[in-house]
Parts: sequence; structure tokens; C-alpha cells
Amino acid sequence: MVKQQAIRPNFWQKYTLDELNHAEWEALCDGCGVCCLVKFLDDEDNQESVEYTDVACQLLDCLTGHCTNYSNRQDYVPDCINLTVEMLPNMMWLPNSCAYKRLYNNQPIPEWHFLITQDQLKTQQAMLQAGVSVAGRCVSEVGMPDEELEDRIITWVEVG
Ligand code: SF4
Ligand code: SF4
Repeated sequence: MVKQQAIRPNFWQKYTLDELNHAEWEALCDGCGVCCLVKFLDDEDNQESVEYTDVACQLLDCLTGHCTNYSNRQDYVPDCINLTVEMLPNMMWLPNSCAYKRLYNNQPIPEWHFLITQDQLKTQQAMLQAGVSVAGRCVSEVGMPDEELEDRIITWVEVG
């Protein structure tokens, strides 16, 4: 039996990213869904130079913005990113609200984050108000022709 790791109180303020256990690392994700959008990275040397589309990964539920099969996702989407601390220096194309990026850049996590509110509904509503969730404003990549992707570039993801 796998023992559940404990999430330590206020861990995001007390420990560095490489000191977090798996449960704490996973808890940092707010489920905004932005990293599940199809994007164009313009220049590999400048990871902030990104253009997002509103087209989402086949496994994303576009109404909730959540992955529909997170634990088995790499069986279906082998290139789904398994984010690690080591990758973060090259992940500055993540949205400014992303807790991983914020902590890496020595910024606090957003006030609406579930870790702070402990209220799922409040967090979801605040995320919608802040415009940081893809919920309800993306479409699935399933059946989307590649040639249409450039017409679906969006500007509402804040990066950099
Ligand atoms: S952008 Fe960051 S917070 Fe949002 S879903 Fe991806 S990893 Fe989670
Ligand atoms: S497999 Fe899930 S977590 Fe990975 S990009 Fe797709 S929807 Fe997002």
C-alpha cells in the first residue's frame, strides 16, 4: 500500500521547490489548464516568446479546464509535460499566475489559490474573474485541422 504523503502547513512559504514532497508539488497546480493549450514557442532561446491558442489537448475537459485522465495521461498523451524543478528555467512560457513559475521567480502564490482559500468554489470563481482559467473558453484539438491553429491564437494568457 502506498502511503499518502502529508502536505506540510504553508509549505510553499517554508521550503524551496526542490524540498517539496510529491503531494506538495502536485498541490501547487491550480488546474488553470493553460499549459494544456496548443501553443507556438517562437524561439527556443527565449521561452517567454510564446503564442497560445484556445485549442486544448484531447484530454482536457474544456468546460472545467481539468484533465480528464490525469493519472494515466501519458498513456494517451506521451508528450504531456511532467513538470520538474529542473525544467522550470526553460518554462517561463507558463502563465504568470502559475504557482510553479511564481515560486521559481521568488513571488508569492496568488491569493485565490486553493492552498490559501481552502475553498474550491471560491478559488474557481476568483480564477474565472481573474481570467486565468481556460474553463469555458477553449475548444478541443480533436478534429481541429492543423492549418486552423494559427487562426486560433489568443492574447488572454499573461506571460512575462
Ligand atoms: S499552468 Fe501551472 S497552474 Fe496552470 S495547469 Fe499548468 S502547471 Fe498547473
Ligand atoms: S494530458 Fe492532461 S495534463 Fe497533459 S496536456 Fe493533456 S489535458 Fe493537460
